[in-house]
Amino acid sequence: MSAAHYAVHDSVAVITLDNPPMNTLAHVMREAVLAHFQTALAAANVKAIVLIGSGRAFCSGAEVREFNTPKAAAAPNTRELLAAIDASPKPVVAAIHGFALGGGFELALACHHRVAKEDALVGLPEVKLGILPGAGGTQRLPRAIGVERGLEMILAGSQVPAQQLAGTPAIDSTIPGDLQEGAIAYANKIQGQPLRRLRDLVPTVANAETFFAAARAKAAKESKGFPAPLKIIDAVEASVKLPFDEGIKAEREGFMLLVETTASKALRHAFFAERQAAKIPDIADDVTQADIRSIAIVGAGTMGGGIAMCFANVGMPVKLLDMTTEALDRGLAIIRKNYAATVQRGRLSQAEMDHRVALIRPVSQYADIADVDLVIEAVYERMDVKKAVFAQLDAAVKSSAILATNTSTLDVDELAGSTKHPSRVIGTHFFSPANVMRLLEIVRGKQTSKTALATLMSVAKRIKKVGVVARVCDGFIGNRMVEEYLRQAYFLAEEGALPQQVDQALEDWGMAMGPFRMMDLAGQDIGFEIRKRRRAEDPARQIYPAWLDRVCALGRYGQKTGAGIYRYEPGSRGATPDPLIDQLVIDYSKEIGLARKAVSDGEIVERCIFALVNEAAQILDEGIALRASDIDIAYLTGYGFPLYHGGPTFYADTVGLAKVVATMERYAKGRNGQFWKPAPYLAKLAAAGQRFNS
Ligand code: NAD
Repeated sequence: MSAAHYAVHDSVAVITLDNPPMNTLAHVMREAVLAHFQTALAAANVKAIVLIGSGRAFCSGAEVREFNTPKAAAAPNTRELLAAIDASPKPVVAAIHGFALGGGFELALACHHRVAKEDALVGLPEVKLGILPGAGGTQRLPRAIGVERGLEMILAGSQVPAQQLAGTPAIDSTIPGDLQEGAIAYANKIQGQPLRRLRDLVPTVANAETFFAAARAKAAKESKGFPAPLKIIDAVEASVKLPFDEGIKAEREGFMLLVETTASKALRHAFFAERQAAKIPDIADDVTQADIRSIAIVGAGTMGGGIAMCFANVGMPVKLLDMTTEALDRGLAIIRKNYAATVQRGRLSQAEMDHRVALIRPVSQYADIADVDLVIEAVYERMDVKKAVFAQLDAAVKSSAILATNTSTLDVDELAGSTKHPSRVIGTHFFSPANVMRLLEIVRGKQTSKTALATLMSVAKRIKKVGVVARVCDGFIGNRMVEEYLRQAYFLAEEGALPQQVDQALEDWGMAMGPFRMMDLAGQDIGFEIRKRRRAEDPARQIYPAWLDRVCALGRYGQKTGAGIYRYEPGSRGATPDPLIDQLVIDYSKEIGLARKAVSDGEIVERCIFALVNEAAQILDEGIALRASDIDIAYLTGYGFPLYHGGPTFYADTVGLAKVVATMERYAKGRNGQFWKPAPYLAKLAAAGQRFNS
């Protein structure tokens, strides 16, 4: 079966792209289109050519499955196909429906005219993968819609309804009725007119020098760590300053350079990792899923409220249960306050806020939630409290409902074991603020049913979260790893780096928030409780410096008490370093007989990040995470890990695992060296010259 079809309607040849589901520019498609195109050129009766897509879209761009395979560059490559179309002596009209994105939009721009359904989406999203449109997009789009608008669209990687570009040479006309009929009529109308190629238009911009300088300054500030935006500006500037063919060359050079950057590889890794995370090897597509229409949340605190918002945000009704009316009122007041802030920022209408709030119904009896399909428990982090709640759920809620716990650290298997139907119990670990953070760790207990797991993965998608499957252990994937990261931060502080230096070094490296600011946000008391428990469980391994406990002993729990490691002015989240804490840390070092020394920013980053990497390897070895890329997705979407470093395991791959291990072995000889023994799995990969992500 060919990936494109050919038909002639009077004097118009129609070439239909047919490479389901998205008509990507796969090699078979490029070959078929070019062959039909040559037939059309050779046919004396054909005066014009229409290019149209079948199925859901005109063309969604490059075929990702061919990335890094010989097929990607096999003749005709996309640029050769587009050059042939552009050079056609017969007019070519692209007829766009669904979407024309990336190479698909570039294909349309290489045609002489474009007609589209009003709601068709067009765009050049390459920047999101750290590259630039490499098939003429940076040269043709500015010629079609103006330099300013063109650059803005390419830098944003946005998808724009064709209607918005109608009347510019980018979209000559929108077609209200049948697209193919409309396109043929349009092709008939333009026959005999001189050919109009976008390459022949002159891209103009007032005060080019000032315009591009301002664009560069803005991009440098807003896209730190990502080289693509600056290269895109270079390419668009070339469209203004150079003849078309030289502009194309400049675009190509920029593309080739970007494709090889770590930032672009990291973005592509993240793109695939996110899709991969949804796949669970032993859960086939035909596993029965429960139909989730109604949800109850138990516990209307910080997390319960945020989780309720996640469901209300996508139009799903939620019942919110707490012990007292006061707790419910407080929870609902916070939900309203959060929504009102979004309304104030102009990102939500008052009507939509009212609708969402109305979807959240406070209830006070378990009998009120008897008929829901899914319960998410978010009560205090104590096993006895949670067991008591699950006993009530067991008794009151229909047996087909799934029961989920939002515990951060407790044993999901133990909790499930205390219920009548452990197979319906699962962990759903949201991240704070639950209505904002994209990560949802889905904890698969020993007895969790496939139905419960498959259902929760779908629920994650419905509420716009990235579901990452974890097995049961203390801290699951994310928090178990963060433990080792924080431990290094504590040690660094007592050895010589003040907390603000540790935070600054990691933030300069790209972390959204340094470890001490992060702890102040989460609440120092939470970490304190966990340290107490872990010290009791495993005194030999669970070593933490006591200076942090002293911060807690002062009642400094972080943002919520106005002071933690930093000070916070009332109503502000801005962290101000506090000389009192600096002195506390310095005194502590003295007390334990440790001579403070200067610590470099490089050492701070190396120790904190490599600590994450080592624990990641251990987690993979134990089967807590399914794959290295799942760990990266968890860190990118839940812990503010910089996208341009691709996640802990991707970053370690770019450093080289042998070098990572050698560095760990060096630290193993130093203070607290017991934490630097390379995980056996990491040592094995490094010795074999392998990577986490092959
Ligand atoms: P919170 O103290 O803000 O809220 C707990 C709520 O549960 C309170 O409203 C309380 O009245 C209610 N509650 C307690 N016992 C109850 C019972 N028997 N029946 C009904 N309601 C009851 O706590 P939180 O920060 O929202 O944490 C809740 C859970 O989420 C914990 O397991 C915690 O470990 C987990 N978690 C917290 C965070 C975070 O950053 N805060 C992140 C991820 C997971």
